[in-house]
Amino acid sequence: MSTKSVQADTSKISTLRLGAVLKDVYFPENNEELLKIYAKIGDKQPTVLGGISNTLVVEDTNEPVIMTSLLKEIIISNNYLYASSGDSLIRICNLALEYGLSGLENLSGIPGTLGGAIKGNSGSYGSAISDFIDRVYIFSWDSGKIIELQKKDLAFGYRYSSIKQDRDIVLGASFILQPEKPQEISKRMQEVAFMRRSTQPKGKSLGSVFKRYEDVSAGYYIEKAGLKGYSLNGMEISSVHANFIVNNGGSVDDYLCLINLIKTKVFECFGVKLEEEVRIIGCKQCTKNSL
Ligand SMILES: Cc1cc2nc3c(=O)[nH]c(=O)nc-3n(C[C@H](O)[C@H](O)[C@H](O)COP(=O)(O)OP(=O)(O)OC[C@H]3O[C@@H](n4cnc5c(N)ncnc54)[C@H](O)[C@@H]3O)c2cc1C
Repeated sequence: MSTKSVQADTSKISTLRLGAVLKDVYFPENNEELLKIYAKIGDKQPTVLGGISNTLVVEDTNEPVIMTSLLKEIIISNNYLYASSGDSLIRICNLALEYGLSGLENLSGIPGTLGGAIKGNSGSYGSAISDFIDRVYIFSWDSGKIIELQKKDLAFGYRYSSIKQDRDIVLGASFILQPEKPQEISKRMQEVAFMRRSTQPKGKSLGSVFKRYEDVSAGYYIEKAGLKGYSLNGMEISSVHANFIVNNGGSVDDYLCLINLIKTKVFECFGVKLEEEVRIIGCKQCTKNSL
């Protein structure tokens, strides 16, 4: 049973290996447990987290947190694949390969859970997760009900879905994939893995920090502003990919300061207001104003 809340140190979970300790965290293992948690704390607004690969928890919210990473169930039948929101996208892609189902190859290698990927419509190399979705199942914190949605109901766009932040909890989704020889699928997954290795830094990060600005990558502006490779106390604007900030021993504060620095410099240089792709939880601000 996972209907009791526990303390969770997000620095141990996050792919950045930084983050605050949250004191009131629920890890439901199935929908029934989530419903029981709702019966207990439904009057409070929780924060929802998956794999914390695109989120920085800078301080405790002092409110309940629902972590969906233990909601795990995968069903595969013919060219239909259902996965629960806590399943990792990497595992889902690998299982699709094993069962000779193609479509998800370009998404292989994206860390985090299916729930996070659907909320932010994760994508790479010209594909987005929404391209393959049939149905999404959410738990509405407003109504206390499980709702089945079709792809068209979710208004997917670039790193966007209409899933309401923290009020809709993704429980799972089904995909329609295409049968194909596993060797062919595997070949494309290897190509994607090669591209990732060649263009993205190794090490601890949250992936892309900023969204594209009018179809131009944020990395372009950051590099042109002269910030690629800039390091602050062991937190580095990657010299491999300027839209990644890599933790080589820095702090949450250093990460926040680099975000501020990038936004300020890019605006000064190009008049462009970059918007974070990374979600920041908590109100703590960068304290190093001299940057
Ligand atoms: C090395 C690296 C490479 C990456 N490459 C890519 C890439 O190529 N493309 C890409 O799009 N992203 C990329 N990312 C970012 C990240 O992996 C994805 O955005 C991922 O889908 C986030 O999933 P998560 O479970 O970690 O979400 P979290 O960080 O836990 O949460 C992200 C958001 O989703 C919400 N959320 C999480 N779970 C649920 C749920 N069950 N229901 C409702 N809302 C939920 C949270 O509230 C939050 O707003 C990369 C990250 C890293 C570290």
